[in-house]
Amino acid sequence: MLDTAALIAWPISELSGGLIVSHQEDELIRISPDRAALLESMGLVFCRPNQDSIDLALDAAKQSGDISGISETDLALLSLALERSARLITDDYRMQNIATLLGIEWQGVSQDGISEVWSWCLICSGCGKEFDAPRLTNAKKKQYDDCRDCGAALRLKKKK
Ligand SMILES: [Zn+2]
Repeated sequence: MLDTAALIAWPISELSGGLIVSHQEDELIRISPDRAALLESMGLVFCRPNQDSIDLALDAAKQSGDISGISETDLALLSLALERSARLITDDYRMQNIATLLGIEWQGVSQDGISEVWSWCLICSGCGKEFDAPRLTNAKKKQYDDCRDCGAALRLKKKK
């Protein structure tokens, strides 16, 4: 399983036979059309995860609090990695975090990954009060509510 960063950064020879989800084709064409054309000719396998594995991946993302930071594509990749017992190639710490929870083997594209599972919370930029991380995927990523106490913006933070 290759995330879109891996599709762009990895040597072509390493990508042959990799699994990617259908959503990524469009994403790739938008970010790097030349790369997309090249990959199309190399037999990358486009797959779609089934609903059961999507539900499992969603549950894990909610459990870790990472759900507000991941996209539909990310979720599809996690689901498919779970379904196929495939190794996930990603530098996204949220995806690595969820993969660890799901027992999916993963590897970074270029950085060292995380070594333990994190939880996330929201912290107020004004008074510093902590709130639970949001439970629903947000269409506009990184948009959170304001603090219930002082009205300042909340931001996502790694829980200690
Ligand atoms: Zn506040």
